Amino acid sequence: MPHYKYLIVGGGMTADAAVGGIREVDAERPIGLISEEQSPPYNRPPLSKGLWKGEALETIWRGTEKKGVTLHLGRKAEFLDPASKTVRDNQGGVYTFEKLLLATGVTPRRLPFDDGSVIYFRTLEDYQNLRALTERGRRFAVIGGGFIGWEVAAALAMNGNEVVMFFPEEAIGARLYPPDLARFLSGYYREKSVNVVSESAVIGLEKRAQGTVVKTRGHGEFPVDGVVAGIGVTPEVELARSAGLKVDNGIIVDEFLRSTDPNIYAAGDVANFSNSALGSRLRVEHEDAANSMGREAGRGMAGEASPYRHLPFFYSDLFDLGYEAVGELDPHLEIVADWKEPHREGVVYYLREARVRGVLLWNVWGQVDEARRLIAAPGPLRAADLKGRLPKAQ
Ligand code: NAP
Repeated sequence: MPHYKYLIVGGGMTADAAVGGIREVDAERPIGLISEEQSPPYNRPPLSKGLWKGEALETIWRGTEKKGVTLHLGRKAEFLDPASKTVRDNQGGVYTFEKLLLATGVTPRRLPFDDGSVIYFRTLEDYQNLRALTERGRRFAVIGGGFIGWEVAAALAMNGNEVVMFFPEEAIGARLYPPDLARFLSGYYREKSVNVVSESAVIGLEKRAQGTVVKTRGHGEFPVDGVVAGIGVTPEVELARSAGLKVDNGIIVDEFLRSTDPNIYAAGDVANFSNSALGSRLRVEHEDAANSMGREAGRGMAGEASPYRHLPFFYSDLFDLGYEAVGELDPHLEIVADWKEPHREGVVYYLREARVRGVLLWNVWGQVDEARRLIAAPGPLRAADLKGRLPKAQ
């Protein structure tokens, strides 16, 4: 039975960042990592961005295995007993620990009619499966109008594939962007030859001679060679819940990223943490959260605890457009748009009660820290105070 001073459940970016954080403080004592995936940790963003623009696959690896960690790959941790500090995996492996990190991430939501052929784009294996399909065919359906939907649709189209997108909202990214920007994006994708079928519902898939036929409610049928879905995710909390840890939209952690058991930490997509600038709890499913929380949790596990105060930023690519953003992007808030060139370059502020809650830096770079300062500012801030405020000279 392996015993680890530090045990990590999960094999994503958070897990790798935690190994790095532990090793900043403790170069010696053993670290174990249990991951369901067969691959060691890798950077996930290139799977839907850079790898489709010529970046080499080798660039995704994070070199976790070189940081002095024993990797237990292809295993799912199924049982956690906080009292005896024991974890058991699905192959009968039993591990004991002194400090445990739950970096279990999220699981993609699935379509009720899935026939087993849908790619829920999340892992390296999903990327490889989609790449293999593009070798055999060139017609693809993308279900979902969120991050995965718009990034994968652009990636496929940029590589010469015919893409049709289906999602329930009025326009691409309508849950995050103000309505005029979301409508612009749908038009922009259409200009790039993506068939954007908004306000649509896919109701079934059928294998026929001409490929898979995607059936919709009221929008007809579409024969394709592959179907990708990005219809949201749910936090992977079962291990925590069954161990009696507090769970509520993720694993509840304190400012030191400890769960309700002080020897068990949680970080990354699965962690529900408090942010003082926003004055609320949140869960962030983006790279910066994985890297920053993973590192901080690792340092804390190794005895160098400091409160996690970071407000993670996120970013995305949409063909030639791109952005960085931070905070709460909710189009139902008061919107102040400060365009240098409408929908091409500018800053969108999201306000509630005269305070900035979120900032979208649309083709505006290097301003995330300034945006964080605005979110932390007590206000009151109004449109006139914000226009022309960013970008600040660096
Ligand atoms: P997402 O961004 O939450 O978007 C889900 C989309 O699917 C929404 O448009 C949603 O519409 C739609 N949807 C839900 N049920 C549907 C259904 N039955 N049929 C068709 N559409 C449906 O989630 P995601 O795109 O799946 O991404 C997964 C996670 O990966 C997210 O946490 C995301 O943050 C992360 N990710 C991040 C990046 C980045 O940071 N650049 C890139 C890729 C992925 P409704 O709103 O109407 O439900």
